[in-house]
Amino acid sequence: MKNLDIKHVKIGPFTYDVKFVKDLKKPTGEKVGGSNSTKKMLIQIESQAHPRFQLRILLHEVIELMGYVSGLKRKILTKQKLSMHEIASHLDVTLYQVLKDNPDLISLIGGEG
Ligand SMILES: [Zn+2]
Repeated sequence: MKNLDIKHVKIGPFTYDVKFVKDLKKPTGEKVGGSNSTKKMLIQIESQAHPRFQLRILLHEVIELMGYVSGLKRKILTKQKLSMHEIASHLDVTLYQVLKDNPDLISLIGGEG
């Protein structure tokens, strides 16, 4: 099966590489479908997953990185209680930028399912 046709995703001001890896694992050895690293500016996706599942994994990693870029993750890590409205306020501008800056990602979503 072919991997998703995407090499980079821009999230806020940062461009992350997207790589497809066979038998992707956490450092603990646990198998995972995807992972992201803000230090390596990298999103990794399991190459043996179906492309439609790869797209879901990619969106999952993008949302996590949106949380990082928007400052939401820091609030969660410091155990702040957030309302849905506050979470949305963190993510709305970042989502706008992700949608605007990633026509490749948009066309993957619009492509045959
Ligand atoms: Zn995750």
